[in-house]
Amino acid sequence: MKRKILLLSTLLLALLLATACAVTGKLDEGPRKFEAEFIGLFDTLTRVMGYAESEEEFAAVVQELKDDLEVYHQLYDIYTAYPDLVNIKTINEQAGQGPVVVDQKIIDLLLFSKDAYRLTQGRVNIALGAVTKIWHRYRSEGVDDPEAARLPKMALLEEAALHTGMDDLLIDPVKGTVELKDPQMSLDVGAIAKGYAVEQAARAAEERGVKHLLISVGGNVRAIGARNDQGEPWRVGIENPDYTTDDYLAIVKADAISVVTSGVYERFYVVEGQSYHHIIDPDTLFPENRYLSVSIVTPDSGLADALSTALFNLDLEDGKKLIKSMEETEALWCMPDGSLVESDGFAALTSA
Ligand code: ADP
Ligand code: MG
Repeated sequence: MKRKILLLSTLLLALLLATACAVTGKLDEGPRKFEAEFIGLFDTLTRVMGYAESEEEFAAVVQELKDDLEVYHQLYDIYTAYPDLVNIKTINEQAGQGPVVVDQKIIDLLLFSKDAYRLTQGRVNIALGAVTKIWHRYRSEGVDDPEAARLPKMALLEEAALHTGMDDLLIDPVKGTVELKDPQMSLDVGAIAKGYAVEQAARAAEERGVKHLLISVGGNVRAIGARNDQGEPWRVGIENPDYTTDDYLAIVKADAISVVTSGVYERFYVVEGQSYHHIIDPDTLFPENRYLSVSIVTPDSGLADALSTALFNLDLEDGKKLIKSMEETEALWCMPDGSLVESDGFAALTSA
């Protein structure tokens, strides 16, 4: 509860500041610690933390990062159209109507998402939009009117699942076009776009010479470098699905790392006392209750985001196998009873 209030007050503060950055710093000699917060990007709270010589220096770094994230946010939006912008929503609206010329950043995201599909044997599938759209509608209705909350019929989901073929997403990197072959299919990039955008924005900041920065877009965390010039590691807390405690599940101590968690507590609704979260198993077309949360630690934030969603749809043994097969990648599963399962190298990330 305490945390909820804290979160709420942080959100309120951010709201009051609208899109302007809130920058705070401590009075010390040498580089000082600063933090900035803003809302609106990827429908969540963005927090940036770092050390700088002056408030102006930090504010400039944050502004450039924010501008980059804003571009990705608009291009990858599936719900909102923007004047004179071809985004993922446009692609969905043009399904079955031939190729659409798009920004290179969209091509890159879609190619990355196809790789993630192959890597996870389809457990994270951005072409699942026809199915996730149904769940999205039933969830919104159920949240608005809990008494009337209901589940979609299996026949409806199965019909939609006929229009989720990744092979019907055609990408032509040379012509810079994207085509949805199936007029009834649609893209839902919600499982990958945020992490991918954070990764690209972080790399751009690195190229501008930023040496140390911690970026969190709605808990999708990406660290640039170490915490400071002394090489001390960043400390990233993994949120506990249990709202009654303030304790983190674990604290990752590392440099140049991304930590991303998918959890049942993020978006869900309740039907007849049973909770239904927002990650859909492509095999059963339902949200499964394998875990309360899955966290991924790996350098690339796009990969971390894709894997945290995919692992939700994999049994523990298969998930462990996948993580083991990947370099510099660790996972933490929070089981339905609250117990924790770590991948082999996870403990090394949390010890001092
Ligand atoms: P969040 O971004 O909310 O932290 P995730 O990264 O786990 O959560 O992504 C969940 C979102 O991805 C869902 O809200 C939905 O839009 C979409 N989604 C749900 N199931 C799948 C799936 N199996 N494959 C791809 N996308 C999915
Ligand atoms: Mg994800």
